[in-house]
Amino acid sequence: MANAAYIHIPFCSHICYYCDFAKVLLEGQPVDDYIDSLLEEYRSYGIKSLRTLYIGGGTPTVLTVPQMEKLLTGLTQELDLSLLEEFTVEANPSDLSDEMIAVLAKSPVNRISLGVQSFDDKLLQRIGRTHREAEVYDAIARLRTAGFENITIDLIYALPGQEMATVVSDVEKFLALDLPHIALYSLILENHTVFMNRERRGLLHLPSEDKNADMYEYIIETLVKHGYEHYEVSNFSKPGFESKHNLTYWDNAVYYGIGAGASGYLDGVRYKNYGPVHHYLEAEAGQKRVNEEVLSLKEKVEEEMFLGLRKKSGVTIESFEAKFQLDFHELYGQQVKELIGQGLLEDKPGLVQMTDKGFELGNEVFEAFLLDDLPEK
Ligand code: SF4
Repeated sequence: MANAAYIHIPFCSHICYYCDFAKVLLEGQPVDDYIDSLLEEYRSYGIKSLRTLYIGGGTPTVLTVPQMEKLLTGLTQELDLSLLEEFTVEANPSDLSDEMIAVLAKSPVNRISLGVQSFDDKLLQRIGRTHREAEVYDAIARLRTAGFENITIDLIYALPGQEMATVVSDVEKFLALDLPHIALYSLILENHTVFMNRERRGLLHLPSEDKNADMYEYIIETLVKHGYEHYEVSNFSKPGFESKHNLTYWDNAVYYGIGAGASGYLDGVRYKNYGPVHHYLEAEAGQKRVNEEVLSLKEKVEEEMFLGLRKKSGVTIESFEAKFQLDFHELYGQQVKELIGQGLLEDKPGLVQMTDKGFELGNEVFEAFLLDDLPEK
């Protein structure tokens, strides 16, 4: 049984220009019905114990205070809370009213993930975010007063028109806050976004690949120098503050995915729920999935490598062999040797770990672990 659950709240009060997540504009949506339906799906799994819970979006904090209260109570009332180690809620800095913070603080939620993206008001405006720098400080101060210490923020770099100077100031402003965790993502252009539309019309001026790589190098170097562990491609933490929930994904472990558009992995099946809210609402609690994929041995092995390599700790050959009953060196010995030669993997016996250069060129490394064929046993 899984001991991690992801809960999806797909509503947003505004759509950011770069976003291709499963989300919908809040206005006019049947939010109360959605929470009822989501809790029904959650209960249909008979979940009694979890190690990690994660409410993401969309924007969970666009819920009203009573809606959030109902959701938190519904998710935790049947749980053995002594086993729940990490309970994260994603929040938009401008939605965190004192009442919302009070509801979160009196619940078992113990980690807040703030979608900051940048501390530069001009950049925030340019990417379609509605909050501003001052609201970030204000939200963090009030969260701390309410007792939240485990706060993480997301930042995006390589934004249109962004220069190194704003990456430097964003990182410095993060360091000044002395938070225990940060995720930094390079902007990726996705289809069906305002940015992709602008790019096609030649109106988006993104930093070059070289500049992008310089930004990533600067980020790694600076955060590591300040005591943050670079424990995953895009994630940095003070010791002991790694995201336990996200490590479930990178450890290729099973988890429940609940809500419209949510993905889950249970019993060797990767599944995805209906995305459009009305489709999700119409489906019975046990029928919310729009597709299910039973993974072959080859796919499981490849995923183990792609996901595991995202972590600085990499993949342990002994656990790989115990999990799949396969000889690692027979499968990947040659590739590993070549990647070590190219400086993309560390040369460590018993471990497959990416170097900083490997992290930078991630896809090249991942591709090397694609298999031609692997017969089912
Ligand atoms: S980035 Fe977040 S807040 Fe913005 S539209 Fe996407 S899900 Fe909503």
